[in-house]
Amino acid sequence: MSTELLSNFFAGRWQSGQGHAQTLVDPVLGTALVQVSNAGIDLSEGFEFARTQGGEALRALTYKQRAQMLSEIVQVLIANKANYYDISTANSGTTVKDSAVDIEGAIFTLSTYAKLGDSLGDSHVLLDGERIRMGKDPLFQTQHLLSPTPGVALFINAFNFPSWGLWEKAAPALLSGVPVIVKPATATAWLTQKMVQDVVDAKILPVGALSVICGSSAGLMDQLKPFDVVSFTGSADTAHIIRSHPAVAQKSVRCNIEADSLNSALLDPATTPESDVFQLFVSEVVREMTVKSGQKCTAIRRVFVPATLYEATAAAITAKLKKITVGNPRNESVRMGALVNREQYHNVIAGIETLKQEASVLFDGNASGLQDADPSVSACVAPVLLGSTSPADAKVLHDVEVFGPVATLMAYTDIQQAYALIQRGEGSLVMSVYSDNPSFIASTTAALGSHHGRIHAISPDVAALHTGHGNVMPGSLHGGPGRAGGGEELGGLRALNFYHRRTALQASSAALDAMAQNAGVLKL
Ligand code: NAP
Repeated sequence: MSTELLSNFFAGRWQSGQGHAQTLVDPVLGTALVQVSNAGIDLSEGFEFARTQGGEALRALTYKQRAQMLSEIVQVLIANKANYYDISTANSGTTVKDSAVDIEGAIFTLSTYAKLGDSLGDSHVLLDGERIRMGKDPLFQTQHLLSPTPGVALFINAFNFPSWGLWEKAAPALLSGVPVIVKPATATAWLTQKMVQDVVDAKILPVGALSVICGSSAGLMDQLKPFDVVSFTGSADTAHIIRSHPAVAQKSVRCNIEADSLNSALLDPATTPESDVFQLFVSEVVREMTVKSGQKCTAIRRVFVPATLYEATAAAITAKLKKITVGNPRNESVRMGALVNREQYHNVIAGIETLKQEASVLFDGNASGLQDADPSVSACVAPVLLGSTSPADAKVLHDVEVFGPVATLMAYTDIQQAYALIQRGEGSLVMSVYSDNPSFIASTTAALGSHHGRIHAISPDVAALHTGHGNVMPGSLHGGPGRAGGGEELGGLRALNFYHRRTALQASSAALDAMAQNAGVLKL
């Protein structure tokens, strides 16, 4: 691998940063891969170019035409897939299976929006809901409309999904007619940059519709104007900076935040250790702890079981975790690769120590050593299961997200206590509930729905069908209240709301008819 300086596609041309560059590193081997920089690039020019050239050209097209472009992007990504897997292995240290979550997840999401967009037809605006009568005479009514925002969408993304993180946002933005500028997290910017390069080279989109700027985030938020939007994914600390920026606080730039989250799994108190529900629960917890080495914002961090099943659950999860081999993902016997870099390695080790103030260690795979990886160089951490029999007394267990293969088993005394403990996450992306009792699933959803963007219910009848606690499906909402950032993404065509402005047109039926003639219908 070379240490080439990755180019930025900005203001409609490829531009190299000048001066200081940051080096991306293989998290298993510790070797240098590529460099990124945007030093010296005129940010104002790039944002204005995207708004005018990219935005105007996109909005001149119909939803159907833009949906067709998404389909063409899918074809480009499929054609170049092998290269993306290589980059993912090298830069994210992931196994093929874990790289697939990022790469195939992106392709699936784009394909879904291509299909959804096709249904919106040859229109430039969307009707939102039915006409509403304003008085006795039906001649004068209100029709709500959605028009694409005439600005740019800035995406500031996290390191753990360089592929999906780009396309799950870009698909609804481009379909809406809004140009995209993506700033990938530096640690894994390579895959994002390469995908943008392939799509730009394929000349599918109007120039300026898709730009990538790698390296420092300095100055990007300063470029935003009232009709722009910013979609951020990352830590709560950086989210705070984004939210407090004058562009958001003073210019009403629309802002979507996807932040960290202490997601839960809840086992029905009526479960027995011999049941299918128990097996499904244990498998899902282990899967969530180990997929992408636990570096998923949706991963299960807190595992709630009735006190009577605490020991049995600890034993069952431990038995499965013991089989997880950790190390170099190029070795076919390895089940779990690395964290993204040594910095995250140290963060996760420190995070485990923090949780240990309130939890005991039920299993620590780090004693078993690594396969084909040097522990002094690589960013590999084996799964760690912690446990607490008194989670009501805990603080950090409900507060500290350790972004790695770590979860804490917690014993609850009764279901009301379990609900209260889950709520101490202060708003999460997702929780999963495991039960063969539909009424239990329904009452849990009623109790905890307001605290979660998504509730994933696993029962034996859907054992072979369910999509996984941590997998984000394009048709379902992604995002969570409170600490999870308060954002909303995906959810099918709901995602288009963020990229459109809603207007209430109050007019005569004749004027509303004229408007409706060339409008699509947003059917949710
Ligand atoms: P991060 O450190 O907050 O970085 C996220 C992004 O923000 C990166 O692109 C980073 O650029 C950029 N950034 C850093 N400082 C900034 C500033 N002052 N102004 C503007 N942008 C700035 O988060 P991370 O470590 O990459 O990601 C891990 C976290 O993301 C975890 O807590 C995880 O839970 C969360 N996450 C949430 C979701 C979700 O959908 N809710 C999904 C994935 C991850 P640099 O890389 O150049 O510093």
